Amino acid sequence: MVIVGDDPASRIYVNNKKKACAECGIYSEEYALPESTTQEELLELIDRLNKKSDISGILVQLPVPEHIDETTIINAINPNKDVDAFHPVNVGKIMVGNFDFVPCTPAGVMELINESGIDVSGKECVVVGRSNIVGKPQAMLLLHKNGTVTICHSRTKDLASHTKNADILVAAVGIPKFITGDMIKPGAVVIDVGINRLENKKLCGDVDFDSAEKIAGAITPVPGGVGPMTIAMLMKNTVRAAVINRTGKQS
Ligand code: NDP
Repeated sequence: MVIVGDDPASRIYVNNKKKACAECGIYSEEYALPESTTQEELLELIDRLNKKSDISGILVQLPVPEHIDETTIINAINPNKDVDAFHPVNVGKIMVGNFDFVPCTPAGVMELINESGIDVSGKECVVVGRSNIVGKPQAMLLLHKNGTVTICHSRTKDLASHTKNADILVAAVGIPKFITGDMIKPGAVVIDVGINRLENKKLCGDVDFDSAEKIAGAITPVPGGVGPMTIAMLMKNTVRAAVINRTGKQS
């Protein structure tokens, strides 16, 4: 785990990941670098970690400070150690459906769906949000499971007309309580990816849980729903990376 600067949210995320590694028996190293770290210095560290045989997975906690180019950093990580699945090689593999690593949050959503015995095939799936780390890969994973997928975003006209049609609705918007009960199809599976901190310091999702739970057939809470699954999937990717780096066997 590499963290640059002292963003408090990033610090919490890295601590949680470190704790999860310890609980799973995964050896981890943390590189906490000062805000003033240059891009060259960060690239040198990544190069060293790429070559380090006892390290299977590299995670650079995002966002990095503004003077460092995020894309250059992501592209520098060995795709076989890219446990976040952000490298273009891994993104491309997700597109074709023959992948080793899946971005942790969408993977966690799929695990929740699967473990709940919900069959995606033929279902109307609506993903609200099209970011590279959540919305887009989420849509691809639902498509690979034969869902009929619609991706909505800030330019979508009449959002509710789409969300009301969803058998499976994934909200990844970043606006607190944005999806309300009247935007949901009765009985729908509602998965809330959002993590928003309210003024009273409490966490809440992108779905208005109180109104949505009355309409939905199944719904995930925030906190406690997708968040812990994201970390669990990171552990899974790390074990997968260890196997790939030891055996050289890829999908
Ligand atoms: P981004 O800000 O990168 O993307 C937000 C998306 O929402 C964009 O595609 C944007 O559209 C869309 N959007 C914004 N406003 C609207 C609107 N009014 N109507 C419809 N769509 C809209 O966020 P992320 O994908 O990174 O994260 C989304 C949420 O998930 C955040 O709350 C984040 O904290 C949380 N998150 C949770 C994780 C977990 O472990 N549970 C992990 C990662 C993120 P456009 O592209 O047009 O701008």
